[in-house]
Amino acid sequence: MTPLNDSSGAVTIALLAPAVLSVFGLFFCWAWFLDRQRTYLRLIGIAPFVFSIGVLIRIFDEPANPALNAVLSDTAIIGSVLLLAQGILKRSQLAFPMRFCVGVLAVVTGGCGALVYFDPQTAAEIYLRSASCGFVLLVAACRLWLLRTHRSVDTVLNWVLTIFALQFVPRTAIMVELAKSGEDPYSVGTLLWVVMHLVMALLGAALTGAIWAAYLGDVVAGLRRERDADMLTGVLNRGGFEALAAQELRAFSSRGHVMIVCDIDHFKAVNDKFGHAAGDAVLRRFGVLLNASVRLGDVVGRVGGEEFAILARDVDLAGGFALAERLRTALIEESLDDIAPQARVTASFGVAAVAAGASVASVLGEADRQLYLAKRAGRNRTFADQLSMM
Ligand code: GH3
Ligand code: MG
Ligand code: MG
Repeated sequence: MTPLNDSSGAVTIALLAPAVLSVFGLFFCWAWFLDRQRTYLRLIGIAPFVFSIGVLIRIFDEPANPALNAVLSDTAIIGSVLLLAQGILKRSQLAFPMRFCVGVLAVVTGGCGALVYFDPQTAAEIYLRSASCGFVLLVAACRLWLLRTHRSVDTVLNWVLTIFALQFVPRTAIMVELAKSGEDPYSVGTLLWVVMHLVMALLGAALTGAIWAAYLGDVVAGLRRERDADMLTGVLNRGGFEALAAQELRAFSSRGHVMIVCDIDHFKAVNDKFGHAAGDAVLRRFGVLLNASVRLGDVVGRVGGEEFAILARDVDLAGGFALAERLRTALIEESLDDIAPQARVTASFGVAAVAAGASVASVLGEADRQLYLAKRAGRNRTFADQLSMM
């Protein structure tokens, strides 16, 4: 291997990863400044700067005392890895316990300092620091894999994090080999050394890029949720319901789906008698009742002022009818005394089976027709094709 004979060239290469990662760090700090609720951005933004401090201490040999240099540099590097891992975990509502972080810091700082103090040429310090960095990142990656979120941004991030963690294995081997051959593993400038630094810069950039993409994915998903939500009742709004229901109808299951439409009876009178605010509270309560009564995967939306729709999955017409009846009786039994004393509301339901290839508009239309029949028959009842019940 031919060393770079220009030592400033070697320093430039060694500074590549800290420089690239610090640019990403700036972007994360900026994103946190704009979006402070996502506190994980702050951790990920600070991590590259802490890492850079560790690298600079090592490259410029300041302080010159080997044990003190190792303690400061290794503390900064393992600290930056803990910040990064903690930030990535926090994005997914996970975290390392504080005692884990303190334990890792204590082992690396104390261990590396002691090893270098007794033998400034030791390779054990490299093993301890690198293995700890790889271990922390690998544990974080394993915890994320266990979440099994199935979102593409999460899968990409998990893979990049896993590869980033695993690169510490060859990296450690190369560093130790260089140290054993009597070279300074931090500024030797051989080809292998250059490749190792380029790989670190490249994988670091890939990791921060993947975190950035995951962050953007979170922002877009949040905006989409807000766009599709009905602010009053907490169920989907009409646009959100139609979009999600269309998606479900495209993945038509052989067990069938059922569309249920319901409309609160004489709701105008509720507003007139108890006030508009009480009417709003009744709608909110009905939204909660619907959400709590359907199965996971069923789609619930508010498709009109006091009209709601449910796309019940994997159920036949009789099952859909039974669900509508359960909802109807639950609404009758629901106490609304906290909203307005003695207030009682009922609703009428229309149920339609979803035929293969049917559009959302056509099944909503059929369920609406059944609802109209239920209203005409006296309200507070469920109609479904041939079935009807008081
Ligand atoms: P029916 O049994 O035939 O459905 O009678 P209804 O009074 O429920 O139906 P109608 O269409 O005559 O009136 C619907 C009422 O719902 C009128 C409207 O003021 C009220 N409404 C619609 N949206 C809201 C809302 O967001 N909040 C409140 N408080 N009332 C609403
Ligand atoms: Mg009504
Ligand atoms: Mg209506």
